[in-house]
Amino acid sequence: MAPRIYKSHIPARPLVQHSLFTHLFPNDSQHSSDLPAYIDAPTGSTLTRGQVKGLALSFGYGLRTQKHAKRGDTILMFSPNSICWPVVIFGAIAAGLRCTLANTAYTPSELAHQYTDSHASLICTTRSNLQTVQKMLGSVRIKDVERRVILLPDDFNWVPGAKKTETVGKSIPGLTKLEDLLGLGQLEREERFDGIDAEQETVLLCYSSGTTGKPKGVETTHQNLTTVLDIVYSGFPPMYPETDRMLAVLPFYHIYGAVKLLLFPFYDGVPAVVMAHFDPLKFCDAIQRYKITFTLIVPPVLVVMARHDCVNKYDLSSLKVMFSGAAPLGGELVKTVTSRIRPTNQPPLHIVQGYGLTETSPTTHLLPILPAREWGGITAESKYGSVGFLLPNLEARLVVDDKDGLAKTDDEVVDAKEGERGELWVRGPSVMKGYLNNAAATTNAFYPYSSPPPSNPTPGSRWFKTGDVAVVDKDGFWRIVDRKKELIKWKGFQVPPAELESVLLTHPNIADVAVIGVDSAREATEMPRAEVQEWMKTKVARHKFLRGGVVVVNAIPKSAAGKILRRELKEQAKKELDGK
Ligand code: AMP
Repeated sequence: MAPRIYKSHIPARPLVQHSLFTHLFPNDSQHSSDLPAYIDAPTGSTLTRGQVKGLALSFGYGLRTQKHAKRGDTILMFSPNSICWPVVIFGAIAAGLRCTLANTAYTPSELAHQYTDSHASLICTTRSNLQTVQKMLGSVRIKDVERRVILLPDDFNWVPGAKKTETVGKSIPGLTKLEDLLGLGQLEREERFDGIDAEQETVLLCYSSGTTGKPKGVETTHQNLTTVLDIVYSGFPPMYPETDRMLAVLPFYHIYGAVKLLLFPFYDGVPAVVMAHFDPLKFCDAIQRYKITFTLIVPPVLVVMARHDCVNKYDLSSLKVMFSGAAPLGGELVKTVTSRIRPTNQPPLHIVQGYGLTETSPTTHLLPILPAREWGGITAESKYGSVGFLLPNLEARLVVDDKDGLAKTDDEVVDAKEGERGELWVRGPSVMKGYLNNAAATTNAFYPYSSPPPSNPTPGSRWFKTGDVAVVDKDGFWRIVDRKKELIKWKGFQVPPAELESVLLTHPNIADVAVIGVDSAREATEMPRAEVQEWMKTKVARHKFLRGGVVVVNAIPKSAAGKILRRELKEQAKKELDGK
């Protein structure tokens, strides 16, 4: 049977073959270099577009000349959001480096996995994260800490034109500071102009566990990112550089933050107001102070907005769009928050959502603003809970059977009938190249299954299996209804069960273990459940704590092949919770 392939109703955008840097800094940019680009929320310290470019090229020069960084080397960013990010990331990219972004809550051993797996040779970090970095480098027996670490500043003395303040904290002997690499010269141009293969060269390595196993490096290419910036643009409500401002509160180290909050506002010419962490009062204060019009958030932020009295204390009237992603967003929550923030909904506040994965760079689906656009009478309410339509340049399928990943021919892949649910498969030029140095995981992630996977795959030629179960309605609006893969998400952060299980198995009193997610309606999130909570707190980052509780069982249910029957455990947990 011919596959049932869904295409976007939006015409495809032309693909470009140039680098991400060229895409962000075109020679014929329409945006003035004096426009603010990134603003530090607490202090108001600002980098203009021109300064971002100058500092990035200067940092790139410093990396090349002082750190002897070469094209293709990898730099690891281990820092909370700050206005240093664009300088480091754009500068590293200009110098031809790949960037890998790590969660700042990581323990030394979690960081060690990413550092060694990505073959990073440099790390940018802050004073508050330095101890973790030092312990991590010690644990992987790296001696030349000074050569590898670049310390990001706590103050703004490095920002051109900033009022000089007393430098915070003592200097750390031997460590290179960001400022040491600035002002020595500038790359004349981006180092990759010559011979860049935008389709094949990896520029970003975020970590994702995919459908199974431990976190893996997702090879995101230049073309993946240039494409996603263009296709998101066609689904996103229009933004205007002079009047719009985006609040960047989600972490830049997650692909959602990196693309939508670090790259996208800059690409679109809209200033991003940068916050290091989410705090309800500071969040509302920033919206009021900077007249924020757009903010990108995750559902748990909306849960806070539904309950916290900060909403009544601040003027949030500038807000036009709250864009939610990374986890399911229900219609009830949208209604509650809208009616709390804007009781008469005048001027309208749109709370919309998008969907995607680290592997799809990330967004594949976006809910448009309804009914502001022409949608033939479709109302926003009728589409609550939907992740919207498929973005251009992408194709999708809903698959009900592929012989558990062993299908050899197209006949062995069965698509869902109209209106039926199935596993969402997507293909297109924003889908990752593969998992770094992990042929087995790459083979399993793409249909047709090819072992070994092609080293230079043609973009858009293979179906990427999302591990999510979806359904599409007759208007072309998609819903994510279940997750087939084992991944747990806590407040938008990935919690890979296999990773927690391997940590738990090192506990002397644990014979066998299974970690599953249990739903928490109150927190609008899932929570991992397993043994020995307190012990785990010493082993893993906060978002992986076993908030779902611990249950001791006689045996872990497994299939004949030894695979944990997670669904069975989830059903048991659901029964227990329903019975409470
Ligand atoms: P990550 O790679 O960390 O972005 O995680 C991707 C996963 O998050 C997806 O495979 C989904 O399971 C989940 N996800 C992302 N966005 C949504 C959404 N809007 N609704 C439901 N699940 C989502």
